[in-house]
Amino acid sequence: MPQVRNNYIDGAWRSAEHSSESRNPSDTNELIGSFAIASTTDVRDAVTAARKALADWKETSPQQRFDILDRAGDAIARRKQELATLLSREEGKTLPEAAAEVAKAAHTFKYFAGEAVRLSGASLRSVRNGVDVDVRREAVGIVGLITPWNFPFSIPAWKTAPALAYGNCVILKPSELTNAIAWELASILHEAGVPRGVFQMVMGGGEVGSALVTDPAVDAISFTGSGAVGRMIAGQAVARGARLQLELGGKNPLVVADDADLDKAVDAAVRSAFYSTGQRCTASSRVIVDAAVHDAFVERLVERASRLRVGNALDAASDIGPLVSADQLSRVSRYAEAAPSDGARHAFGGRVLEAPANGYYFEPAIFLDGDMRQAINREEVFGPVLSVFEAIDFDDAVRIANDTEFGLSAGIFTASHAKARAFIRASNSGMVMVNLPTVGSDYHVPFGGRGASAYGPKEMGLGAIEFFTQTKTAYVAD
Ligand code: NAD
Repeated sequence: MPQVRNNYIDGAWRSAEHSSESRNPSDTNELIGSFAIASTTDVRDAVTAARKALADWKETSPQQRFDILDRAGDAIARRKQELATLLSREEGKTLPEAAAEVAKAAHTFKYFAGEAVRLSGASLRSVRNGVDVDVRREAVGIVGLITPWNFPFSIPAWKTAPALAYGNCVILKPSELTNAIAWELASILHEAGVPRGVFQMVMGGGEVGSALVTDPAVDAISFTGSGAVGRMIAGQAVARGARLQLELGGKNPLVVADDADLDKAVDAAVRSAFYSTGQRCTASSRVIVDAAVHDAFVERLVERASRLRVGNALDAASDIGPLVSADQLSRVSRYAEAAPSDGARHAFGGRVLEAPANGYYFEPAIFLDGDMRQAINREEVFGPVLSVFEAIDFDDAVRIANDTEFGLSAGIFTASHAKARAFIRASNSGMVMVNLPTVGSDYHVPFGGRGASAYGPKEMGLGAIEFFTQTKTAYVAD
């Protein structure tokens, strides 16, 4: 029996009555580890410890915060290969994808180390003579961070780093499917010297998350996950006056205009739709192709998809790993099975794969005759299932792209500057990509969606300060 990894509360590793196991989705015979499940008392204790730590932490010097975050970034960068291997074993993305995720987490800590020092406000003259106005930014207080399994290292990092940089105390509740890699982040922050109660981690499922959301002493909740859970916790958090940030699902369109470089567009569609096994909030699940190039595009797309190798995430020959869990496998395959009865024309794939054995392997799927009434186009499938639409012209493509309640990431392939600009202007999404996949983002600029894809201020870069600080306006006269 492996040792149970514990929750991190008030600067110490605390055991629990119950535990859960993480298994490798590439080979479920492999146990990754066992993890303590926090009780509601553990969550309450973490909140109490955070409350005690907050006053001092808010007053720490920017240099101290810089040093801690910088050390965490260094440790992550130093351990990149080992952390990436663990991430790949636990979540099922391929090793290069996992290594990129770990590298991004390291950069994020280093970036927000600098932001701790750069935190600024504004100084203005009052409209009244003899009065100065000072707009300061202060920490919000105790923030609960609830994160999903699909970016189990970088999302906790990109919420934790700005929260700490701006003087908040953090309680992280990672996904119950990816405790092992989240535990490593907690351990790195512990080693980096985060004071007691300033960063804490409670593991477990919805009940543990819910205890954080409903605790009146938690000042803010930042949640990334499904729309269903996001909407439910929004009701609870907003009703009690907590600050709230939600990053939810997507139904991201990729438009291929009549003048696009088709090889590049096919490559981007394959990367956006199928890599990371389609389990990215920014994955393209709808490709909208101008009628003039539709048939040529589809031919190349199917040919390219047929060459993709699905296999063990750690095998260098694999392009795509497994889905994360048995639930995900049955959910994604249900969508693919039902698509033809909804009017989608099957073009490729969509089978549950028998080999390799003991993994949640699914063959990427392509459907044609896309129509926004089909469930695979209205709802987030969150797997490697791509629907191709034929658009009459550019305007029709833009209309289809925007015909969704979601608005996370949208892309266009075109050689025309005018079309690219028109698409950027018309898009209902929070992020727009020109001649790039819909996936992939930088850590120093805002990340996030619109409509049903998000609520509250954006994350990352320049966006994070809006959520993790609050302003105070001081009027000063002699
Ligand atoms: P999920 O909603 O099932 O779970 C997310 C987190 O919420 C987990 O930690 C889970 O334990 C917790 N949770 C579950 N029930 C809860 C409750 N009642 N109260 C509080 N917390 C609760 O999502 P998931 O399956 O882990 O992740 C996949 C989803 O995340 C997809 O919809 C994807 O689009 C979305 N996502 C969005 C972004 C983004 O930035 N927009 C990024 C990655 C993933």
